[in-house]
Amino acid sequence: MGNIYTELGVRPIVNALSTYTRLGGSIMPPEVTAAMAEASRHFVDLAELQQAVGRRIAELTHNEAAYVSSGAAAGLVIATAACIAGADPAAIRQLPDLTGLKNEVVVHKAHRNGYDHAVRSVGVKLVEIGSALHTARWEMEAAITERTALAFWTQAGMTGKGDLPLETFIEVAHAHGVPVLVDAAAQLPPVENLWRFTQMGADLVVFSGGKDLHGPQSSGLILGRKDLIAACALHGNPNGGICRPMKVGKEEMVGILAAVQWYLGLDHEGRAARHEQMVAEWCAALNRIPGVRAERSFPNGAGQPVPRARVTLDAAQVGLNAEEVVERLLNGDPSIAVVPDGPDSFYLNPYTLHEGEEQIVLQHVSALLAARQPA
Ligand SMILES: *Cc1c(COP(=O)(O)O)cnc(C)c1O
Repeated sequence: MGNIYTELGVRPIVNALSTYTRLGGSIMPPEVTAAMAEASRHFVDLAELQQAVGRRIAELTHNEAAYVSSGAAAGLVIATAACIAGADPAAIRQLPDLTGLKNEVVVHKAHRNGYDHAVRSVGVKLVEIGSALHTARWEMEAAITERTALAFWTQAGMTGKGDLPLETFIEVAHAHGVPVLVDAAAQLPPVENLWRFTQMGADLVVFSGGKDLHGPQSSGLILGRKDLIAACALHGNPNGGICRPMKVGKEEMVGILAAVQWYLGLDHEGRAARHEQMVAEWCAALNRIPGVRAERSFPNGAGQPVPRARVTLDAAQVGLNAEEVVERLLNGDPSIAVVPDGPDSFYLNPYTLHEGEEQIVLQHVSALLAARQPA
């Protein structure tokens, strides 16, 4: 079956992995693509559209204000810039030169990850607190100085038990007049997270539009304090600030608004029940194959409340180890992406599959794992 991808020689992938950027994030529902197509047919004042869309998204998500970025990582850059330079035109023009400006960001050592490069790209120094295993309140108190521009929190799979509770992190930062930025890029579901972190007191929270929100892949949300969101708009396009290269188009602005509306209206309980059913059916079927153990695993790798099936293999019995299975599935027809987990196991993730694809995944995984078994 030819499509716009196969005509380019690019193979579509059945995604039992996750809302990974490198696989295309998520698939926009027709409500979103229709809104984008309509937006593409008219000229409009981009700054006015950003404001109008932001107001609407803020209302829908119970936040003071909202800004559409070109992704969560871009949101981290713009939010950092807004916390440092605010709405001061001279400071906005001066960035990324931080001479005379606050230039430090307090962060849990345990939260360091590839995406904090977005925060660092504004030129700040990350001041780490705690260890991989434990962080104490006094360590955060001691790390905050008159140079501290913001306190940065990542909510993800690595957010751990040894961290300060987010409530404490916010309390300590605010006691020193320091704003808190939360990277919650992949923290949907649950939908309530769109307002949970800001209601806890976080000043700005960033979400990816191209993950479970099912918005345009190159979109993101910054939600939070009105004055800081207003500053974000001054740093971003169409203005010439540090975030001008991270352009957000009219189609993305309208598309992510449609995605937020669509997402809020989803039957989240029904969706969760379908995911449980898919995982249960996968496990029941795969457990019938000798040398294979499949079990429900929860939450998923990003800490989202979505179940996955963890499949563990006895390579001697199956004739393949888990890494070989993952590779063969990806190189198969259709190409199926699953979650690698070393030589012994892999995961099947239900929440990025289209209706009916769970059967395709099961057929191909079963056939591969049972191939060496005596008939
Ligand atoms: C995916 C992700 C990002 C980046 O999101 P984009 O919308 O792709 O820019 C940032 N932080 C975390 C924790 C993520 O999972």
